Amino acid sequence: MASHNQETVTEVHHWNESLFSFKTTRDPGLRFRNGHFVMIGLEVDGKPLMRAYSIASPNYEEHLEFLSIKVDNGPLTSRLQHIKVGDPILIGQKTVGTLVLDDLTPGKRLFLFSTGTGLAPFMSIIQDPETFERFETVILIHGVRTVSELAYSDFIREELPKNEFIGEMVSRQLIYYPTVTREAFKHTGRLTEAIQTGKLFKDIGQPALSPETDRAMICGSPAMLKETSDMLDSAGFKVSPSAGVQGDYVIERAFVER
Ligand SMILES: Cc1cc2nc3c(=O)[nH]c(=O)nc-3n(C[C@H](O)[C@H](O)[C@H](O)COP(=O)(O)OP(=O)(O)OC[C@H]3O[C@@H](n4cnc5c(N)ncnc54)[C@H](O)[C@@H]3O)c2cc1C
Repeated sequence: MASHNQETVTEVHHWNESLFSFKTTRDPGLRFRNGHFVMIGLEVDGKPLMRAYSIASPNYEEHLEFLSIKVDNGPLTSRLQHIKVGDPILIGQKTVGTLVLDDLTPGKRLFLFSTGTGLAPFMSIIQDPETFERFETVILIHGVRTVSELAYSDFIREELPKNEFIGEMVSRQLIYYPTVTREAFKHTGRLTEAIQTGKLFKDIGQPALSPETDRAMICGSPAMLKETSDMLDSAGFKVSPSAGVQGDYVIERAFVER
């Protein structure tokens, strides 16, 4: 039995030369938890070429959405970046992942630390009403190199607060903190520095991180992942050791360096 379904691309948006997002049809049988990833791909030389992708759309939507890097010589994304509306795309039937609300112990504030395409799973998490029911304040931090890599920035700031379903929760409880390392912007510098120096907390008018009140999810580059986990560990946070086991924070590798 095939482990994937063939779906159809319904929308494509190019953010810049290295980043794009797209929507696809969704098999009604594909169930997932917000924060999960799934294998997606294209048929190449008669065989499926599949890669892990976080699902950026919330699980109540009829479509699926993905945010993707364009790697020039990447086996999948050198091809995937050329997809057009109406094209077929393969979507795995199994969704998995560690970035789920259930794996966090109760807390007051939820920090979502992301770099690059590591934002993708948090796009589904910040559209989940349960996120705002479990946490009083949700702080989404997105670190990128250039302003054009701030995917979904307008959507988060302008559209989401007006959403008839979760808009009110988003307006009251979500703090969005984009930070850029290689260009001038409102907030600049690496997100780990912004935390360590206290700049983040000063900028958003919130108290510093505390394992007493805070929980976190981390998704992004291996370097950011390591630095942020080390920082949380030394502050006394306990990582969730594996899927299904609760901790003060959870991590997912958005991409793996080889
Ligand atoms: C759990 C998980 C979730 C993932 N979710 C996403 C996602 O939502 N969006 C996404 O674009 N990718 C995601 N990835 C990475 C994805 O699986 C592929 O690696 C990526 O699509 C590139 O595929 P490729 O075949 O073109 O090149 P690959 O041979 O897979 O990678 C080529 C090179 O590009 C680098 N690279 C791969 N992905 C990224 C990235 N996202 N950002 C920066 N550098 C990268 C790798 O370090 C590698 O050196 C995820 C990976 C994992 C393990």
